[in-house]
Order: sequence, then C-alpha cells, then structure tokens
Amino acid sequence: MSHVSDTSKEVILSIRDLKVKFYTEEGEVTVISDVNLDLFKGETVALIGESGSGKSILGHTIIRLLPKNANVSGHIIYKGIDLLKIDSSLLRNIRGREIAWIPQMVGSSLNPTVKIGVQIGEVLIDHYNYRNQRAWSSAIDLLKLFEVEPAEEVAKGYPHQLSGGMKQRVLIASAIAARPNLLIADEPTKGLDTIKKTLIVNIFKKIKDLKPDLSILLITHDLKFARELADRVIVMYCGKVIEINDKNSFFELPLHPYSKLLLKSLPSKGLYPIPGKPANVANPPSGCRFHPRCPYASDICEKSSPPLIKLDLNRCVACWLYKR
Ligand code: SF4
Repeated sequence: MSHVSDTSKEVILSIRDLKVKFYTEEGEVTVISDVNLDLFKGETVALIGESGSGKSILGHTIIRLLPKNANVSGHIIYKGIDLLKIDSSLLRNIRGREIAWIPQMVGSSLNPTVKIGVQIGEVLIDHYNYRNQRAWSSAIDLLKLFEVEPAEEVAKGYPHQLSGGMKQRVLIASAIAARPNLLIADEPTKGLDTIKKTLIVNIFKKIKDLKPDLSILLITHDLKFARELADRVIVMYCGKVIEINDKNSFFELPLHPYSKLLLKSLPSKGLYPIPGKPANVANPPSGCRFHPRCPYASDICEKSSPPLIKLDLNRCVACWLYKR
C-alpha cells in the first residue's frame, strides 16, 4: 500500500492488511481491521486513541504477545521477515535484541526474585554472550544514565525495594540494554505524576542520543507526551487507523473530526468533552465508526466506511469529507 509510504526514508517495519480477532464465549470479535502503515528508521511515532481503540493490541501484535484466543491475519514485515510467520526460536532472537518492548504493567513486569542488575544485563548475556561482570557493569551504566541512584546499590536490590517511577526506568533500561532497532513502549507515562512524566520524556531523549537511528513506537493516550517526543502521530479509533500525520501538522491542523475533538478536549483547549460514548469494537457502528459522534456526519457516513485517503506524502485520513 504505497499510500502510507514515504519512499525517501528507510522503512524498518511494514504492516499490511492487518486484522486481529479474538474468539470469546460471546463469539468472534474483530479488534483491529485493515491496518496498513510503515515505520521509518530513526523516527518516533506516537500511536494515540481512547481506551479500546486497539492501539495497545497493535503493539502486542507486532511483538507477538497476544493471548491464545487471538487470530491474526496480514503481514508485519521487519527486515524482509514476516514476524507473523516465523517460528518461536527466530522470534526469540528478534525480540529483545532487535525489537524491544516496554510493557504497561510496571508492577508485574519485573521478576521479584531476581536482582535488578541481573534483570537488566541478562539480555546482553542471552543475545551477545556477554560475561556476567560485563553485563553487570552495563546495567549499572544504564541505571546511572537514567538516574536510578545509587546505581550500584539499586543493581544489587530487588523490585519491591523500588518506587513505581524507578521500576519504570528499570524496565526501560532492560528494554534498551541490547540496543534494539525498534522500541515499542506501551503507555510509558500511565499513572505517573507530572514530575515523573518529565523524567520519562528526558529518558526517551537520552535513548535517542544514545542511538539516533532507533525507531520508537509510543503507544499513549497522553497527548502532551506525544507532542514532546513524536515525529509523526497515528490515530486509531475503534480498531482502525483514521489519521496519519506529521506531529506539527497534527497538533496545529488535525484532519479527522475525531482528532479535532480529541485536541479540543485537552485542558489547555478548554476541556470540551467529545460527545457520545466511544464505539464498542464488539458491535461497531455501520459505515464510519465515528459517525454517531461526528458533527459533520452525512448519509454516506452511516452507510459506507471511508478508506484511508492519502492527501500528500505525510498525511492520510479516513473521512468522507476529504474524498474529492
Ligand atoms: Fe464524520 Fe463522516 Fe468523516 Fe466519519 S466520514 S469522520 S462521520 S464526516
């Protein structure tokens, strides 16, 4: 799908015709439909949307961490390899070393019985055959870089001795220890206060200084965080991608009516709530899934789902208002 590609940049990950279903006791539920997008080398992309939009499931699908009742079709191509087709041993080689994942559940994502320094360094032992001492030193260097101090003492300790913000930074350190090419972070600022959010922003900036060609996919509902870090923004609504835009263009002139209302709902813009309720992905509205809440909806919106329309090299939108 060339409409989502900028051929002047090197693509690191291509997603094509992605569909994710869950088999539940109530029946089959399609949670992601028709996702086509590219991530480029060295860019930071914020994937935004309300709860239930499918953004977190998309991240889990890329790293293949979905539960057993999921059924995935389509393609996720990384360096010419379809991640959806490879066996578990090749997946283990790629996961952690080439594509790293920062999970949302900070509390349960660290092993309570393993020392912090070991948890950060083990990816270097597994993927690069580091000796224990070298991996330990690298772990301490990362703790210092991310201001988890006193680093030597923290490395010898266990997760229960750390605050939530420190655990978050330890998780980030263990994700980037092997210097991956793609980092996917699932709601890295969730539950953090303003000061800790600022710390996380600075950590992501340090990560980019460390490896400028690293690509980052930030899954977040935090628009301020997205604005601080992203080069591009991708918006999801009810399991579909509805807008792809440059960061500045998105925040100054958003395209999709949902994006416009989302930005107007920010405290700095007057806190106008988006009318209606978020669409239920298990029983989505007909046509454009946003039509029951959209102030611009017309007959066609209720009947027919708009395709993702390419406006120019960097901007795509799924809305009938843009179909000439
Ligand atoms: Fe609104 Fe219609 Fe555009 Fe959907 S397609 S966002 S209902 S104008």
